[in-house]
Amino acid sequence: MAVPWLPRRNGSRNPSWFNVVLDLREERSVASFQMQTESTQTRSKRVHQIIAGLQKTYPDAHCELHYSNPVELLVATILSAQCTDKQVNIVTKDLFAKYRTVADYANADPAELQNEVRRLGFFRNKAKNIRACCCKLIEQHGGEVPRTFEEMVQLDGVGRKTANVVLGNAFNINLGVAVDTHVARLAQRLGLTDEKTPEKIEEVLVRLVPQDQWTMFSHWLIWHGRRRCSARKPDCLNCEIQELCPSRTKV
Ligand code: SF4
Repeated sequence: MAVPWLPRRNGSRNPSWFNVVLDLREERSVASFQMQTESTQTRSKRVHQIIAGLQKTYPDAHCELHYSNPVELLVATILSAQCTDKQVNIVTKDLFAKYRTVADYANADPAELQNEVRRLGFFRNKAKNIRACCCKLIEQHGGEVPRTFEEMVQLDGVGRKTANVVLGNAFNINLGVAVDTHVARLAQRLGLTDEKTPEKIEEVLVRLVPQDQWTMFSHWLIWHGRRRCSARKPDCLNCEIQELCPSRTKV
């Protein structure tokens, strides 16, 4: 589906931070323009087409954190703040071999647990949160990961994003859209929202996307962000959903 009034820019330029900033501003203004002029009905139709395009492109999209049970996913997601999934997977390979149960984390020697995750940013805080979180799982939830959003966000180190990731992937419970840096960037570039905070972006996305696809929608945007629509160099020329994107100005 062609969107004829969207601007295209041709020609190569020397990349520089100045140009990158200009590009981002231009993308935002184009996406914002779309935000202001597109009817709710048209946007809803476009979102369904975006979903169909991403689903076709990434039929196997899934959470790229490695885990084999809800506790491991919870621990991995707490560790993933400000880190790549790749970095987390390296650390959890040994961590999960050593700490096998909630009790193992709850009874862990704080310095030892900290040492296990020290390759990751904010490791002191993350180790402290994992321990406290697992103590709470034992004290309040019989050693199980709870299945409600309200209970999840009461756990140490667990915010909206972590709660959505764990509930959606471990239990197939869609209670929100997990908004990370890729989801935020893609939602803005695709002209779905011009909100800036994860909470506000999520509010917009849950109104646009069918609830049974909230978890997958987050995966599709993350996969597209990692493989095609990177922050610095989006590959608009080869993008599978370029005709649905108001920011396809890099072609
Ligand atoms: S890579 Fe695709 S989604 Fe990203 S800005 Fe370009 S056209 Fe839009």
